[in-house]
Amino acid sequence: MNTQLNLLPVNEWGINNTDRPLLISGPCSAETEEQVLATAHALKNQNISVFRAGIWKPRTRPNTFEGVGSEGLKWLTKVKQETGLKVATEVANAKHAYEALKHNVDVLWIGARTTVNPFAVQEIADALQGVDIPVLVKNPINPDLELWIGALERINKAGITKLGALHRGFSSYGDSAFRNAPNWQIPIELKRRFPELLIINDPSHIGGKRNLIQGISQKAMDLDFDGLMIEVHPNPDEAWSDAKQQITPSQLEEVIKSLKIRSKGDSKQEQSKLCGLRKKIDYFDQELIEILEARMKVAGEIGEFKRNNDMIVLQNSRWGEVIEQSIALGQTKGLSREFVSKIFKAIHQESINNQTEIINQVLS
Ligand code: PEP
Ligand code: MN
Repeated sequence: MNTQLNLLPVNEWGINNTDRPLLISGPCSAETEEQVLATAHALKNQNISVFRAGIWKPRTRPNTFEGVGSEGLKWLTKVKQETGLKVATEVANAKHAYEALKHNVDVLWIGARTTVNPFAVQEIADALQGVDIPVLVKNPINPDLELWIGALERINKAGITKLGALHRGFSSYGDSAFRNAPNWQIPIELKRRFPELLIINDPSHIGGKRNLIQGISQKAMDLDFDGLMIEVHPNPDEAWSDAKQQITPSQLEEVIKSLKIRSKGDSKQEQSKLCGLRKKIDYFDQELIEILEARMKVAGEIGEFKRNNDMIVLQNSRWGEVIEQSIALGQTKGLSREFVSKIFKAIHQESINNQTEIINQVLS
């Protein structure tokens, strides 16, 4: 299914500093009035577009800090008055949305645990019907692009055109360098389908550790993300939630200063050079397809031979040889073991599928 989103460009949203990277920053959670105001004052001169603070916190386990609730909205109002910053908070149901609107929160975001639930998203969309407010939708915790798009569509259908996506990574089981795997292909595909959609990366929740923030942020910039949402706390080690991934306001300044914002390659000269190289790529892509077609034909002939001689599809020793031979050759050409192995496994799987079909064909 392919739908279009009705989107207003971010420079018409009424927030400042919409150049790349558009920066949203503030604590994971509002903890005390002093902590919220201290963070906001420290960020005031750092060119951030929006100050964030979670008021209602969707925590994985009970008996952890679940947010200060509506009380914290008054602190956000104070942030606006004292610093002039726009403020954002997370809403997970209609009540949160009404409360946030009542307190003039400028930007809302929908958290990853809410995006997974179409009922909750629809409830928020209904609460926002006809309201003019920017809404950012985090990716669902599972790597499901359609579910992410579905949530964006629900909010958009309620008339919200100041709409953006927040990429915070995806849950997986077991140890990994990341708290939430980035699966960059998913936001890249989202951008391909909706080129006008604002996409902001959240390196704090992807990395889960403060020393990963710089690298993830740089990658997001190199992949043409519009902005970053980074969690900042005056005393990160003492934070009541997500302590390991929060950084101080001055560390944020360092991260942003160290970012390399590379050119998008829009100039005529750059475009013509790229165009020439891309023609070469197109040529090789065609060759690849033709070689794959020829290879599949031979695999089909093997399938017919196996059928006619009543042989099984998979001969494991042969498959072991194919993959090891290819990996070894690949390594002499600068292609990594992981890459060659992934490609050959996919080709082999397709051959097996075709051969299984041929072997089971009922011949008339
Ligand atoms: C957050 O931004 O603090 C948060 C709860 O994030 P997520 O929904 O990405 O887990
Ligand atoms: Mn957090």
